[in-house]
Amino acid sequence: PALTDPPYLQGLNAPQRDAVLTTEGPVLILAGAGTGKTRALTSRLAHIIVTRLAWPSEVLAVTFTNKAAREMRHRMGAMLGDMVEGMPFLGTFHAIAARMLRKHAGLVGLQSNFNILDTDDQLRLLKQVQAEAGIEEKRWPAKGLAGLIDKWKNRGSRPDQLLPGDGRDYADGKAPALYARYQERLVQLNACDFGDLLLHMLTIFQQHPDVLSEYQRRFKYILVDEYQDTNVSQYLWLRLLAQERKNIACVGDDDQSIYSWRGAEVANILRFEKDFPGAKVIRLEQNYRSTPHILGAAGGLIGKNSGRLGKTLWTDRTHGDQVKVTGVWDGPEEARLVGDAAERLQRQGASLNDLAILVRAQFQTREFEDRFIAIGLPYKIVGGFRFYERAEIRDALAYFRVVVSPSDGLAFERIVNLPKRGLGDKAMAALHTLARVRDVPLSTAAAMLIETDELTPAARRSLATFVADLARWRGQLESLSHQDLARVIIEESGMVAMYQAQRSVEADGRLENLTELTRAMDEYESMQAFLEHVSLVMDNDQGDEAEYITIMTLHAAKGLEFDHVFLVGWEEGVFPSQRALDEGGNASLEEERRLAYVGITRAKKAATIFHAANRRIYGQWTSSIPSRFVSELPPDHVEVTTTMSGGPSLWRAALGSGQDPFADVGRATGRGPGWARATTVGTSGLPGRGPVLEARASAVSVGMKGRSDVSVGSRVFHSKFGYGAVTSIEGNKLEIEFEKAGAKRVLDSFVEVV
Ligand code: ATP
Ligand code: MG
Repeated sequence: PALTDPPYLQGLNAPQRDAVLTTEGPVLILAGAGTGKTRALTSRLAHIIVTRLAWPSEVLAVTFTNKAAREMRHRMGAMLGDMVEGMPFLGTFHAIAARMLRKHAGLVGLQSNFNILDTDDQLRLLKQVQAEAGIEEKRWPAKGLAGLIDKWKNRGSRPDQLLPGDGRDYADGKAPALYARYQERLVQLNACDFGDLLLHMLTIFQQHPDVLSEYQRRFKYILVDEYQDTNVSQYLWLRLLAQERKNIACVGDDDQSIYSWRGAEVANILRFEKDFPGAKVIRLEQNYRSTPHILGAAGGLIGKNSGRLGKTLWTDRTHGDQVKVTGVWDGPEEARLVGDAAERLQRQGASLNDLAILVRAQFQTREFEDRFIAIGLPYKIVGGFRFYERAEIRDALAYFRVVVSPSDGLAFERIVNLPKRGLGDKAMAALHTLARVRDVPLSTAAAMLIETDELTPAARRSLATFVADLARWRGQLESLSHQDLARVIIEESGMVAMYQAQRSVEADGRLENLTELTRAMDEYESMQAFLEHVSLVMDNDQGDEAEYITIMTLHAAKGLEFDHVFLVGWEEGVFPSQRALDEGGNASLEEERRLAYVGITRAKKAATIFHAANRRIYGQWTSSIPSRFVSELPPDHVEVTTTMSGGPSLWRAALGSGQDPFADVGRATGRGPGWARATTVGTSGLPGRGPVLEARASAVSVGMKGRSDVSVGSRVFHSKFGYGAVTSIEGNKLEIEFEKAGAKRVLDSFVEVV
């Protein structure tokens, strides 16, 4: 049939063709990663339009991200040429819902030019609503309420539809009333939040049968990608819209459901056949994306999850390397090796665009950014800000800047009321006027102003406290190490308390980022040197590079593919995340495992997993243990290496054989098994982290350079600090009195005995 096939059918396998050509009736395409689900869905869309089954405006096609929508539009354009003059209903749920709501806004009391609030606006409004109800923001942060409301909206619940007990834990059960009031206020403001877009349209569908049937008739065909990550509200939407014609095709993979924390329910897949009796279920089993080893590794890993629908995946490829698992010494080394690998691949003719680094949490990007800037490797952070551009980081940096240079007015302005110190517009105006009149920096003006009665007593008190804080921190510039001072400032400024009070998912990330910031400082001599580095980094405009390596979270990588994928930070507490470990249940761990599956299956040619033996957490060196996911990978598909002496056997052993994991090191280095020893200690006692099992190398560490015998009193050389004498040894950390640089704590692997 190949000769007569239209272009959009060419090359498709039999079940894919089936998925394209079965246009009438409900279809569920259930298949593993890389089997061409998205491709089949795109071809189906092309087929429907080319054969005039429907006009472009009569198809509802839902993608998970705007990027995916653009891609689908682009592919359609390539297939159909001018025929696709825009498709109004191709996009994300939110984009499509917003478009519809403009038309029907009146039905929910809005005008068609309603505003869509961003999260900041939303919080401001929630705070007002709380204040009005006399609920203390300190005790019940608005962020918490925002989270609850979001959850309800994802679930399709309006205030009058909440269940008994909903929100009981918040503000003595007042959350439902606050939710109702918030919705009222939104209408008064002619505004809605993100969750409302879907919920309002759902309400309209439910309460206005005429509108519903208009859309039911209009949408001759409905297509949904990444169906496993739809939430209840989206699911109800689809069910209503498809009820009339029932021409709905959903594609999904239960193993790639990774958004349950945002209300997604994988159960929607299971319900499909019930809601649409007679649905045709199509399974795609041939994977076109990855090599056999990549598939084998991913398959073995996801096999550890329970309650899966179960799918077969095969490929007719024969070549390809095993998935590499590399144990490295620490984070900087991880970044260095990824950078080296990228440059090597580039020399071999690969484009940087085919390379991606996938992280579990945003804070992990920092080490890579610093390294790539140092070696001039263009990179792009997708779906997030570059590390030093994130709000909380800029806030903390502003504190450091004011401490280091009191005349930095911009920085002063940024933080004078952050966290909130009750300094309103009046106080700020007085401050600015004084600074202008006396021609002094804002911080000097502040010191002067508190001696006067210009401000209200409350404002004066809090400004005085702030001025005193700054003075104290400045005094500590000499007495504390710059990392310690940074931690003191972050803590004492109230930033930590502010984020802790928010108890939201993002707040956790922000705290992690702040910790990462202090970690980054270790590589610099002083606060001043560090700030200088940061301004250089921030100035580093890589916006218009044509080729760059992508850094993104595993979540953002869903649906995408790259030739070479670097999966970094596979350590307990990083991935699986500490949050998942703390929750303790199997459900969160299984979701992390699905995330790992998504990560590995992004790779077309090669996947490399890294785990570091040491991470600096809260400024302390902590030995980390490899992620359990590493040991769950089927050995046949994996090649284990380590940059450390001792070789792969060290890590194999560390993965739970019960032997002394460091015994091999001694053997490999010819020093006998007692040379290095591992002890397992209990709770790490780190603030804010649950029990972390630490495999801690004791007595002697496994240094990259293969350490020489250091003892107290040894004279050593360090490439940055020069010559010095060891004054004490604690595990792998040495206190050294350097002849020029003074007392420093360094890692033994960075010194040589002379
Ligand atoms: P994911 O679960 O990760 O979203 P998917 O099932 O949507 O994956 P696609 O992204 O559609 O998979 O396809 C994966 C890769 O395989 C793409 O590069 C695609 O072009 C290619 N591909 C899909 N079907 C075929 C086919 N029949 N012949 C050759 N290549 C194909
Ligand atoms: Mg896809």
